[in-house]
Amino acid sequence: MNNTYKLIDTHFHMMEMLRKEISPHDIFTQSQDIAFLMDIAVDGDNFDQRTNITHSSLYYSAGIHPENTNIDIDKHKNLVLEQVEHPRVIAIGETGIDLHYTKDTLPIQLDLLHFQAELAIKKDLPLVIHSRDADKEILQALKPYKGKVQGIFHCFSSGPEFVENSLDLGFYYSFAGNVTFKSARNIQEAARVVPKERIFVETDAPYLTPVPHRGKGNSPLYVHHTLEYVATQREMLPKSLEDQILINIRSLWGNKINLPL
Ligand SMILES: [Zn+2]
Repeated sequence: MNNTYKLIDTHFHMMEMLRKEISPHDIFTQSQDIAFLMDIAVDGDNFDQRTNITHSSLYYSAGIHPENTNIDIDKHKNLVLEQVEHPRVIAIGETGIDLHYTKDTLPIQLDLLHFQAELAIKKDLPLVIHSRDADKEILQALKPYKGKVQGIFHCFSSGPEFVENSLDLGFYYSFAGNVTFKSARNIQEAARVVPKERIFVETDAPYLTPVPHRGKGNSPLYVHHTLEYVATQREMLPKSLEDQILINIRSLWGNKINLPL
C-alpha cells in the first residue's frame, strides 16, 4: 500500500482481476487518495457488472480487444455502440493490432480498429491502442486518422524510434509495469524520450506486475512502482511526474471527467 502518491491508473481490467481472484474492491478500501481510474473493456460482455462497481474517480472504456477475433463481431459491435452512451464511458478500446501469435487475423483486427476509430471520432473520445509486434502496421492503420482522433498507446512496449515515428499523431504514451523489467531497455529509453505533456502510467492489471511484485497478480495499488521507476528514468521526482500526468489527463479529457484538485 502507498499513501505518498495519488492513485492514477489509466488502464486496468476489473473483470480480469476478478477472474484471477484479485478484488477490485480492495482498490477503494486500501487507497486513500484516488484521483483517476479507467477500467478497460476487452469486448462487449460484462458491461453491467463493470459499471456496477462505482467510485467518483472511476471511469470505463467500451471496445473490443484486437485478440478477440473469435467472438460474434456484429453482436459485440452493437453492444459497444450501446455502451458508449453511458455517461462514464470516456474512451474507446482497447483496440489495435497484435501480431504476436498470428498474422492471419489481421484483416479482422483492422476491421475492429476502423470501427472503433470511427466511433471515437463520432463520440469525441480517445482511442486506447494496444500494439504488439505491429509497429509498422499500427502506424499505417492510424495514419488516416491523424488530427481527427485522440489516442493513447497503452502498455507502451516499443522503443524510442516508434515514439519518434508516431509523435505527429498527437497521441499519449502510457507505460505499464513491463518498463520496470531489467531486460526492457528499449522501453526504458522510450520512457526517457516521450515529451512530458504526452506521458501516462498504468498497470494493465491483472497483467504485467511491476518490480518488486513481479510474478504476483497486478492491481492499480501497485501503480506507484511504475510511477517511481519512470520518474527516475526521466530524472525527475515522482511527485512532479504525478502532477504532470494529472495535467495530461486534464488536457485529454477536459470537462468529461471530474478530477479532484
Ligand atoms: Zn489492457
